Amino acid sequence: MAENQTASPADHAKLVTGVTKPGSDAILNVDEAIGGGEEAVGGGAGQWGFPRPKGQSLSYWLQQVRCDKLISHRTTEQLPETADTVIIGSGITGTLVAKYHKETWPDKSVVVLEARDFCSGATGRNAGHCKPDQWRGFGKYEKQFGAEQAMKILQNEQDTWEALVAYIREKNVDCDLWVGDTLDVPLDPETAALARDVFDRYRAAGGKVDHIKVTADPAEARRITRLADAQACYAWPAATLQPRKLVAHVMGVNLAAGVNLQTFTPVRRVSPYDDDTKQNDTEKGNGEETKKYRWAVHTDRGAIACVDVVHASNAYLPAYEPSLRGLIRPKPHMCNKVIPPLKFAGSGALRNSYGVLLRDGSLFSINPRYGADGVVMVGGSNPGQLKLDAWVAAQPAADRRCVDDGLSFSSAGNGSGDSEGTAAARLVTDEVRQFAEAQFDGWRESAGDDGLGPGAGYEYSWSGIIGVAADGVPFVGEMPGKQRAGQWVCAGHCGHGMARIFTAAPGLVKLMTGEGWGSTGLPDVYQLTQQRLDGLRDQASRDGGWTSRDGQNGNSGVWLESRPV
Ligand SMILES: Cc1cc2nc3c(=O)[nH]c(=O)nc-3n(C[C@H](O)[C@H](O)[C@H](O)COP(=O)(O)OP(=O)(O)OC[C@H]3O[C@@H](n4cnc5c(N)ncnc54)[C@H](O)[C@@H]3O)c2cc1C
Repeated sequence: MAENQTASPADHAKLVTGVTKPGSDAILNVDEAIGGGEEAVGGGAGQWGFPRPKGQSLSYWLQQVRCDKLISHRTTEQLPETADTVIIGSGITGTLVAKYHKETWPDKSVVVLEARDFCSGATGRNAGHCKPDQWRGFGKYEKQFGAEQAMKILQNEQDTWEALVAYIREKNVDCDLWVGDTLDVPLDPETAALARDVFDRYRAAGGKVDHIKVTADPAEARRITRLADAQACYAWPAATLQPRKLVAHVMGVNLAAGVNLQTFTPVRRVSPYDDDTKQNDTEKGNGEETKKYRWAVHTDRGAIACVDVVHASNAYLPAYEPSLRGLIRPKPHMCNKVIPPLKFAGSGALRNSYGVLLRDGSLFSINPRYGADGVVMVGGSNPGQLKLDAWVAAQPAADRRCVDDGLSFSSAGNGSGDSEGTAAARLVTDEVRQFAEAQFDGWRESAGDDGLGPGAGYEYSWSGIIGVAADGVPFVGEMPGKQRAGQWVCAGHCGHGMARIFTAAPGLVKLMTGEGWGSTGLPDVYQLTQQRLDGLRDQASRDGGWTSRDGQNGNSGVWLESRPV
């Protein structure tokens, strides 16, 4: 990889916006947006793509379920010719929309189309953390949307976490659920001061903080967190889980209720049913002819006529919906699987999940799978991820690295099959290693000078594709305009979907029943409206933009960060 293809995390941080404090260079909560702000260099040309048909890496979650019956599942050998509703995507969004759809209309037919294997997108490849933001994002959301919406977003994350945990417990889902305190830990005094400011502002605005334990004493923070440079610690309830197992459970219930799942069936376009067939089926009602099918969903295996279409394809939606290019952008994100050394195993195992906050606005997200196998998942927008982002941004758009979920690095020496991609993925693993050795008390000594033996250590990393929304919050609702009636979207979850989708998916189904936005209980700023789309496009063109009005073009540049936690 050429030297000039990577930017340092510090360079990269200059491209992003976040919450700052006068007189300090520390950044907290770098925006998840891809547009807006003079320094938020957009760049959107060619930043879209279909799911890659071959060469996906296997995440740890996918490796664990190789004899699951949903692998390659097709409920019927032939693709159905018609359906009431077609859902595109079988991640947590598509699967939950199918569940609530069946509960709402047991008699309506639902087909879920998945380009590759079941739940093999971001959901099957994430870091397994459901961490409701309970204060940290207040600063950036307040700046962007005002205090009221900021409060609603944080409340919604709490509601989502509660809904997810309640479902798993009620249905006794076997998915390695852990519920306990997650720790947010600033590693330098300036970031700690910034965090304190945001926390205080949130409390002053009426935010609930009773459930958050705050430790401002660095010595005490170091004791709790076992991190050498910890300056403070904020602890509140969160969860970790095996996401593929959870979603497979829900899909199992769906199939029993009559949902038809078709894997390895990529959708290439959706068109008005009339235009395609000129033989519209009709239903007679009150003497009037009413149209039954509104849309034709075209796949590599033929077309399905349907009344409603749900776009649960997240990062990939702009590939077949050009009007959303630049508004949702795909971006590879890495997760590292680490087998911890002896001092961090058994009674010494890490018992909390973490968000470790660094001065440049980046963060390490840590899920130690406590109570399961003790394998530590490290992800987040850590300094290595920022280097990978810069590398991806420097690649020719035609290479479609923006949808490359085949990036991987293995300590056994294997990689993603192409040496450039492996070298790029290794950038992330190297930073994870340096962080663990420098920060976790006794890690390096326990690992030994020669490092960990075969089968232990920084074993394996893989990429998945997150869908970054232009303003950092998901799009939920019907595509605007009469001519798009019956096309529904729940996408652009910005690397944070586990803390959003368990309420966003039922919210979308409420809208499909004809109820108003208020019935969803979701923050207003999540709603997909013409006004929001226009505003984002206008802002982008003012700022030197990343997409034209027709969504087809854009200037090249560097992507703004998104921040999975
Ligand atoms: C490495 C990584 C770590 C992450 N860590 C966390 C975390 O710890 N916590 C958290 O909250 N979030 C995390 N996220 C983000 C989270 O995983 C996503 O927000 C969430 O899974 C999105 O779910 P989804 O169902 O909308 O999308 P996906 O799971 O991506 O599902 C979309 C599906 O649609 C299919 N599809 C796309 N296009 C087509 C087409 N044309 N035809 C047919 N099918 C199609 C795809 O193949 C895919 O299976 C992480 C993501 C990654 C990649």
